Amino acid sequence: MTTDIKETETRSFEADVARLLHMMVHSVYSDRDVFLRELISNAADACEKLRYEAIQNPELLGDDPKPAITISADPDAKRLTVEDNGIGMDREELVEALGTIARSGTRAFMERIEAAQSGEGAELIGQFGVGFYSAFMVADKVEVVTRKAGSDEAWRWSSDGKGSYEIAPAAPDDAPKRGTRVVLHLMEDAASYTQPYQLERMIKEQSGHAPVPVSLVEKPGADHRQIADGTALWVKSKGDIKPKEYTDFYRGVSGQYDEPAATIHFRAEGRHEYNVLAFVPGSRPFDLFDQDRKGRMKLYVRRVFITDEANLLPRYLRFVRGLVDSADLPLNLSREMIQESPLLAAIRKGVTNRILSDMTKLAENDPDAYAKIWENFGVVLKEGLYEDWERREQLLKLARFRSTTSGESWRSLADYVAAMKDGQKAIYFMTGDDRARLEASPQLEGFRARGVEVLLLTDPVDSFWVTMAPEFEGNPLKSVTQGGADLSDIALPDDMAKTEHTQTSPEIATFIAFLKSTLGDDISDVKASDRLTESAVCLVAPEGGPDRQIERLLSAAGRLDNATKPVLEINPRNERILALAKLGDSNLAFRQDVAHLLYDEARVLDGDKPTDPKAFSERMARVIARSIR
Ligand code: ADP
Ligand code: MG
Repeated sequence: MTTDIKETETRSFEADVARLLHMMVHSVYSDRDVFLRELISNAADACEKLRYEAIQNPELLGDDPKPAITISADPDAKRLTVEDNGIGMDREELVEALGTIARSGTRAFMERIEAAQSGEGAELIGQFGVGFYSAFMVADKVEVVTRKAGSDEAWRWSSDGKGSYEIAPAAPDDAPKRGTRVVLHLMEDAASYTQPYQLERMIKEQSGHAPVPVSLVEKPGADHRQIADGTALWVKSKGDIKPKEYTDFYRGVSGQYDEPAATIHFRAEGRHEYNVLAFVPGSRPFDLFDQDRKGRMKLYVRRVFITDEANLLPRYLRFVRGLVDSADLPLNLSREMIQESPLLAAIRKGVTNRILSDMTKLAENDPDAYAKIWENFGVVLKEGLYEDWERREQLLKLARFRSTTSGESWRSLADYVAAMKDGQKAIYFMTGDDRARLEASPQLEGFRARGVEVLLLTDPVDSFWVTMAPEFEGNPLKSVTQGGADLSDIALPDDMAKTEHTQTSPEIATFIAFLKSTLGDDISDVKASDRLTESAVCLVAPEGGPDRQIERLLSAAGRLDNATKPVLEINPRNERILALAKLGDSNLAFRQDVAHLLYDEARVLDGDKPTDPKAFSERMARVIARSIR
């Protein structure tokens, strides 16, 4: 595209950019070094984009086919230049890329960075795709001269980072033949970034595994000296790679500055050939719960970067960062056609299986390391329990839980099954959003009394997968608030067992009938409970009905037309219940108040409100008045 704009134009940054720049300049970062990593990463991206375009359009490469990044220092002028021979930008792209912030992550980034302790900011920059602006941490003026591959026109962008930038045509002689040159006019306190040993260290450490060779020119007129050779780490054999090299590479691909929690590196051979280098991050990436839940695995074909939107992993593995380099996919397929390729489906399957089996091994060999992964990503992995039917068994093995007996450690389902009591036929769980409240639930009493472990599921995702009737090694998972609890098959300790016969007393049976007729439509039934050992009452779902917590979630989301009515369970061993049952036919009004109060008590214990707050307080007042008369 040709334009007839020949004048210098001054434009304001978008408000968000201005705010971001202000923050970059005025926050005190512990690690300003990252600016170079960001600029080199942009240069490498530009070279890879060109490499891809050149598959269709080889003439774009002209007489300069080898991608290269050059860092040039000029200590006297306090100037540092990062130049690439990549794809370059036309005027429109330049305005778009360096004047606005297109990405949705930006606002999230700013909120995080404003809330963060000083020092944490630098670690967040790369993750949020606002890398270019980090140049203003070290420079009080930044110039960008760029020429789009295949174009005659070149453009100069410059800014002091204070609200506006200038854009003008660049003299052809003064611009790269192709690609982009970023010139940093360093601030006084950043002048040391022209020292060769400092630059060499930073390039090696931060960008040693960039997919494009990086060389350094120490001062104007000096020779190019290659610092990083641009060899792909993933094609080297595992034995030749040091842990530090993996970490550096991980930092480059994830934009995170921590250590990877697991490194998965293998070469698939046989029907399809591909290399995989993937990492489970050491901490949660910021966009783990983004609506689009996109993965961040890059697809390469014979070392040419193709796309990072190829859905190489199922969504429940979206926290994994890394790449797949295929030897078989044709290079000249469009990105869209690659998506559809059966080869990609085979790769996806192979990589997924390998990641899960590596995690399974880690869980066996180093439970503590695996526990850390589970703490960060368990909620995401659990999405697989309902999204990936085929691998559910394997995912259930990987799942870890808190339970009534776990304390602060994690329990696997295998641990649970090994600790099951004689006569116990199900794996019991309870869902809710707060562990402490769950642990105080009356529904758990009978399980506790029998020493039966109950899993406490507090993540929102739990409500989804548990409804899909999972079972583990032949044991169904069952909610403690659902249906009959089958507890009578599991022995109680002797001292408790003695009082159990009261359950069948005629007085209790009459009281139950009275409660049923008084509460009418509020409930579906009233029953004597196995579940309760201390509390007087609790609510459970009818046999075959949905778990109570799940029903509550559905109705809150407006996804439930008619809620199931709960069953009120009363504890036939509880003193209050026994005394009430003894009242027989007397005091009808009092017993009616008490019936409603018992139901409301059970609701409150479930974290709900009384059905009718006004009626509730009137009844309460009458009962209190009676007791102090
Ligand atoms: P990100 O790299 O995550 O996209 P940056 O802030 O680092 O975010 O860069 C913003 C955009 O500027 C890039 O997406 C790219 O379009 C453009 N850009 C930056 N540096 C270069 C470069 N050296 N060559 C071509 N385009 C570039
Ligand atoms: Mg970038």
